[in-house]
Amino acid sequence: MKSLIAFKLATVGLIALSATAASFAPPLKVVATTPDLASIAREIGGKAVDVTALAKPTEDPHYVDAKPSHIVTLNRADVLIEGGAELELGWLPPLLENSRNAKIAAGAPGRVVASQGVKLLEIPTTFDRSKGDVHSLGNPHFLIDPVNVKIIAGSIADHFAQVDPKDAALYRANLAAFNAKVDAKLAEWQKQLAPFKGAPIVTYHKDFVYLGERFKLRIIETLEPKPGIAPSPAHIAQVIGAMKASNAKVILVQPYQNRRTAETVARQTGAVVLDIPQQPGARKDTPTYFQMMDYMVASLSAALGGK
Ligand SMILES: [Zn+2]
Repeated sequence: MKSLIAFKLATVGLIALSATAASFAPPLKVVATTPDLASIAREIGGKAVDVTALAKPTEDPHYVDAKPSHIVTLNRADVLIEGGAELELGWLPPLLENSRNAKIAAGAPGRVVASQGVKLLEIPTTFDRSKGDVHSLGNPHFLIDPVNVKIIAGSIADHFAQVDPKDAALYRANLAAFNAKVDAKLAEWQKQLAPFKGAPIVTYHKDFVYLGERFKLRIIETLEPKPGIAPSPAHIAQVIGAMKASNAKVILVQPYQNRRTAETVARQTGAVVLDIPQQPGARKDTPTYFQMMDYMVASLSAALGGK
């Protein structure tokens, strides 16, 4: 309470100065682990933030190539936004330890964990990383559900306002505009995918589960037997059988997944392999989250409609 009063007094005292001070203040240095989180952070932060993503849009978010430059970037960050739910377990912890930056330590206002507040799907009943499953806390690929993105945007705006109170009104206004845009786009995307309700789909990794839930598409199989485990001949034979039985005609892949395996399965089932990157910037014409989703929905509806 004491600090809140002190904060309020400080705010009152600074009101006269804030307009001038804000225009000269350097932007908040924001680091996001992946480009999708970076894109949302840019929408919420606008001119008050300078956002960097650690992972490249074509990199597997579970296995990012950690570089010394990442340590420097993290050392200078005011805010870190991570996906959480162990998405970055394989590469982020050592980078963070070496960056020695208290501002982005766990629990600090400068640390945003996107998975907090999101209802995770596929939470295993037993906790077991031993078989190589990289989704041992539940499925961490929740950003392709726009409803989750609104939750995460709210959390980002809260943290930005805590770390940088002088721009709190800007963050709130940007959040409101962002949420309105998500609502409008979601209605559009739902309309586009409505004719394909229940359509069977196969993916390489369990990374389209939240899209399936939101838009009522049926993900019947994955080429990986478990998240993070390479396809085996026995498992592929099972997938081919399931695809033939359900007449599945689409296999979705990411830039970092083994396209050749997907093509082999496609040849044997008469399916098409669709490259639908989940990261903004993986394609030159989809640099933002909204453009990435527009492309995803348009490609899916074209493929499922047989165009
Ligand atoms: Zn995964």
